Amino acid sequence: MATVPRATSAAMKDVPTYALLVGGRWTPAESGATMDTYNPATGRVVARVASAGPADAERVVAAARQALETGPWPRMSGAARARLLRAVADRIEARADELARLETMNSGKPIRDARAQILKAAACFHYYAGLAEKLWGRTLPVDEGLFAYTVREPIGVCLGITPWNSPFIMAAYKTAPALAVGNTVILKPASATPVTALLLGEICLEAGLPPGVVNVVTGPGGTLGMALVRHPGVDKIALTGDTETGTAVMAAAAATVKRLTLELGGKSPNVIFPDADLKRAVPGSITAVYSHAGQRCTARSRLLVHDAIYEEFVERFVAAARAIKLGDPLDPATEMGPVISQAQRASILGYVRKGLEEGAALLCGGRVPDDPALAEGYYLLPTAFGEVRNEMTIAREEIFGPVVCIMRFAEEAEAVRIANETRYGLAATVWTRDVGRAHRLARALRAGVVSVNSVPVTYIEAPFGGFKQSGLGRELGLEGLLEYSEVKSVFVGLSEEG
Ligand code: NAD
Repeated sequence: MATVPRATSAAMKDVPTYALLVGGRWTPAESGATMDTYNPATGRVVARVASAGPADAERVVAAARQALETGPWPRMSGAARARLLRAVADRIEARADELARLETMNSGKPIRDARAQILKAAACFHYYAGLAEKLWGRTLPVDEGLFAYTVREPIGVCLGITPWNSPFIMAAYKTAPALAVGNTVILKPASATPVTALLLGEICLEAGLPPGVVNVVTGPGGTLGMALVRHPGVDKIALTGDTETGTAVMAAAAATVKRLTLELGGKSPNVIFPDADLKRAVPGSITAVYSHAGQRCTARSRLLVHDAIYEEFVERFVAAARAIKLGDPLDPATEMGPVISQAQRASILGYVRKGLEEGAALLCGGRVPDDPALAEGYYLLPTAFGEVRNEMTIAREEIFGPVVCIMRFAEEAEAVRIANETRYGLAATVWTRDVGRAHRLARALRAGVVSVNSVPVTYIEAPFGGFKQSGLGRELGLEGLLEYSEVKSVFVGLSEEG
């Protein structure tokens, strides 16, 4: 059983140290460099990880290529791969409490959300285990005398680059479908939250995946990440991150025509019509923007409310925002934890200042809470701006914090225009009891995911991804599987004559 080496030095006695997982072995960075990672609820170090660089990129690509080119994984039957993916899922479930705790301590995500995400990650491995056995081709009607068919093959070495907000589930989304098709994987988690992706590597190894099939390397995006992106030995990149990172990765990947899936930023609208059921729309809209302190790409951070119910809705929404229970994310009663870092909090507070300068009305929050029990962490109060106009900076840029921009509209067409007037197109929500309007809006909104009269949730069964600058390609669902395959057409001559 491969174990993650632990630190022994007195100063870091209680702080675990994690090495890189390369070719089935735990190894330090070639330079010996390490970096610390923190608990945003306390500001204290939670782990020390290897800080890999370009030399490590060479090693890990070589290991993943070897597993691809000479190892058993791509050659196994789908059923054999499925059995191993189910073993990974079982081990994730068995370690759910430990993984959820680590996820919370590294990301600040409330423990009940973290636990739900760990279990969903296990479900993701089960889902793609099922599909591993069902990746079939087609026969094609071409000229007589030819038998033509398609086969689906692995793309090769797949690089998964993940963000800090939901580290374990993002790692699972990038690993399970890639493995189901027979690819090998290199994971590069975000430097702020690298711990649980390393444990996913450990779990894959313990479940019996051959060495080199799943590799995990930690280090800065600009150096390690870019070295991997540029490497000709990497065939596909799946990145979740912000739109600027996506642009840089896409440009660098173009040099070797790599396959790309990009899951990028968002500024998603949530539209409330006068006939909405406010008993559901108010709490649903609270969850849609404030869960994980607004640090979700799908956060419904632009709230469009019809004139006729604007005052009533806003009053109820603000009261509910004020009632959100901030606290230690390890406490099961906590509804909102800290944001990821001091720098992120400063950036969010910068947007609050900008909103005030541009004339929006601060309805609640906009500052650090007074509670002395929260003083060590990077907490912020749930924040709502009213009377926002869509051209304001706070309505245009992704804040990635607990800030909602509330706007008015009078007509359905106006709501659609405002909702779509953004460079992003990840998600959208509509609340109305009018069935025709619900479906009209679902069609008119330029977003990859639309929820109607329901709290937005990502389903493993449903393709997920963005229109416009929110991304490229899809993750999850059957589409997510196909993005990890190449399709090949084969033509076989049947004629006996030369
Ligand atoms: P980020 O773009 O800063 O980093 C994402 C990952 O990319 C990290 O692992 C980072 O080290 C790496 N990286 C950064 N620069 C790189 C480079 N030049 N080359 C290669 N790798 C590089 O994003 P973040 O701050 O970790 O996460 C927040 C962002 O992620 C937000 O914009 C959010 O909307 C987005 N996000 C999108 C989704 C989605 O599914 N669409 C989900 C979650 C988060």
